[in-house]
Formats: sequence, C-alpha cells, structure tokens
Amino acid sequence: MAQNLKPVAPPKNNVLEKWKRNPNWEPEVVKDYLNFEEQYPKKQQRQLRSWVRTVIQVLFFLFLPSAYSAAFNGVKYIFTQVGKGAAIQWTPFVAILVVLLAYTIVFGRFFCGYACAFGSLGDWLFALQKYIAKKTGKKPKALPRDTAKALSGVKYVVLTAIIVLCFTGLYAKLTGWNPWDAFSMLHARNFALGKHIAAVVILVVLMVGMAFEERFFCKFLCPMGAVFSLMPTLPFFSLHRTRKDCLTGCSACTKTCPADLDLPESGTLSVRGDCFQCGKCVGNCPKTNIHCGVSDRAAGGGKRSLRGNELWFVLLRAAILLGLFIWLGV
Ligand code: SF4
Ligand code: SF4
Ligand code: SF4
Repeated sequence: MAQNLKPVAPPKNNVLEKWKRNPNWEPEVVKDYLNFEEQYPKKQQRQLRSWVRTVIQVLFFLFLPSAYSAAFNGVKYIFTQVGKGAAIQWTPFVAILVVLLAYTIVFGRFFCGYACAFGSLGDWLFALQKYIAKKTGKKPKALPRDTAKALSGVKYVVLTAIIVLCFTGLYAKLTGWNPWDAFSMLHARNFALGKHIAAVVILVVLMVGMAFEERFFCKFLCPMGAVFSLMPTLPFFSLHRTRKDCLTGCSACTKTCPADLDLPESGTLSVRGDCFQCGKCVGNCPKTNIHCGVSDRAAGGGKRSLRGNELWFVLLRAAILLGLFIWLGV
C-alpha cells in the first residue's frame, strides 16, 4: 500500500526518511504521510489568507484611514444633537455611520478585521512585539484570558462616558485630548501637534498597549468597537464550529483568537458581537471545521458550507466595503 503513494512532501518533512529507516513501520508512516498530505496545502492556504488580509489592511490603511474617525464623528454628532434637542441631519458622518452599521449587521465586523486603520495599526504593533520576543528568545507578553475577558467590558464604559460628554455638550470643550485626532494628523504627515500633546501621549500609551496585548484598544477601549459589538449581526455570515467534529483536546481556534472567544456551535443562532471577523480561527483550524452561519453540515446535511474565510468571500466583502466607502466619499 505504501509503495503506491506518490511522495509530494517537501524535504523538511521527515516521513520519507522514517519510511526508509523503518520498512516495517508502514501503518504509522502511511498515517503520518496522509496526515501531512492533508495538512500541507492548508499551511499554504493559511499563508495565502494571511497575506491577502495583510494586503487588504495595508490598502485600507493607506487610502481610507479616516473611515473610523468619520463613523465615530457620526456617533458624537447624533448624541450632541440629541443633547441640544436639535434635529439630526443626514450629514456625511451620519451616512458613513449608518452604512457601516448596516454592513456590520449583514457581514459582521469585517471592517474591524480588515479595514480599520486603528485595528490594523494594533495588529502590526503586536506582530512587531512578537517578532522581537522571538528574536530575543523571550516569551511574548499577554494578559491572562480571564482578565482580558473581564476588561472587555471597559469599552462600554468609555462609550457611555463619551455619549454623556456629547449629550451635555462637554465633549466639544475637550480639544487636544483626542488620540484619533493625533493619529489622523500624523497619518496626514501634519506634525503641528503643539495643541495636541495630551492626545499624543494618550496615543503613545495606546500603542504600547497594542504592542503587548493583541487588539488591546479594540478589545478594551474602543467606543466604536462597543457600538459594533452591540449590533444585531445576522447569523448567516457569523462564524460557528461543528463541535462534535472537533479534534479531541483541540483549542487552536480559541488560542489564536485575538478576542478570546469560544466560537458558538453551528446550528445555534447566537452571534458573538466581539468577533472581529479576522478569520484567524478559520485559518488555524486543523479540521476546517469553522463555518459561516447556520451550516447545512451542522444540521446533519452533507453539503459543503461556506467557511467564512474563503478568499473569494473575503475579497467580495472587501470589494463591497470599498465600493460603499467610495460611494460615500470617505
Ligand atoms: S474595535 Fe475600534 S479600533 Fe478596533 S478595529 Fe474596530 S473600530 Fe477599529
Ligand atoms: S479568531 Fe475567529 S472568532 Fe476570533 S475574532 Fe477572529 S474571526 Fe472572530
Ligand atoms: S480549531 Fe477547529 S477542531 Fe480545534 S477546537 Fe477549534 S473548531 Fe474545533
């Protein structure tokens, strides 16, 4: 049986060496070999997915960095108008906010996973810290999962505080404190930051946090993240796993998740608003067991369900988001 197998493994794989050294070890060799054959293309796919995500993030970062601020301005404007008892006009900021929320209801937080400049900045700072830790032989730093989960509620406090400040009209007086203003100015290569020293200090503190805890700002502090996580995302494009098909003892998806989430089971309608739709769990699942929505497979059907991070689907969501931003003039 083993002789019929055509070797396709690269030299670093030691299965063929084992095979040569242990001619009587055929069942294990074949098992290893088949496992490898199954895993190898997935590794390539994982790398390809990761590259596609990085390219999309870089493009949105370079060409559409203001989407976050625009949507956030929409939130602030609405609550300021409510506080004044004034009418809410259909301004460009409100339009961007409404369209982004509608997009999130349909596709989940794809904007957070792929298109938000602040989220992408956090990903790159964290990757840099991990790289440095690896080179220096140190263990990358991370908060204990329970602590991180407990702290994820802080973003709702931040959102509430901002809403209260807007409602009472105090937010407009807090000039020079907004880290997003400092970020936008730096992105636009405007270094006249004299009146924004406090904002720069806050931005630096946030960036240090982003470097040491994956998605630090997104998980714990982002008011827009709080808004997105409260949205009633449709279940069709949220991520689920077929728990009964999981590898015994596996928790690769949970370990790799920057939001520290346990994915819901397929067949349930529960949707996790904290999911950034980054797709890292999908790419790291050794059994391709994470799907979009309420899959036919979960219900006992045999059809292949959408896996959520398939490249065409990622590109489609990115293209729709890009089209919406261009249409809105972001
Ligand atoms: S949580 Fe906030 S900062 Fe993070 S990606 Fe989403 S909108 Fe951007
Ligand atoms: S790893 Fe998966 S569950 Fe976690 S945030 Fe990314 S897409 Fe969502
Ligand atoms: S990574 Fe895949 S197999 Fe492992 S626990 Fe998650 S869904 Fe199950």
